[in-house]
Amino acid sequence: MSCVFCRIRDKEIPATFVHEDEHCLAFRDLNPQAPHHILVVPKKHIVSLNDVGPDDADMLGALLLAAGKIARAEGLADGGWRAVVNTGKDGGQSVFHIHVHVLGGRALGWPPG
Ligand code: AMP
Repeated sequence: MSCVFCRIRDKEIPATFVHEDEHCLAFRDLNPQAPHHILVVPKKHIVSLNDVGPDDADMLGALLLAAGKIARAEGLADGGWRAVVNTGKDGGQSVFHIHVHVLGGRALGWPPG
């Protein structure tokens, strides 16, 4: 199994987990781009948003519900935060297992680079 997020899911690679439910798990990014940077990842291996369909609706909803729950738990709700799903090469995706970045704890620039 070469997918790093599948290996984290299977506990073959260590991570600092902050959430787990039926559909997804979440852990702190190894290379944080903000004071709070968490990745929300489905347990099922799906490459990107290019690869989802109607059967994935529950999983996709679970990712965003978890992102909001994590942001509140991290104390980010009042100040604001961002959910990001990089998709494909031009979207900046480097790990090809779909994931939602939860970023917060500083003012985030817009537009992204
Ligand atoms: P993306 O570039 O959108 O595909 O995001 C992939 C993210 O995964 C990057 O922010 C990396 O820092 C993060 N990452 C890669 N390997 C690990 C790991 N072993 N543990 C935690 N985060 C990781």
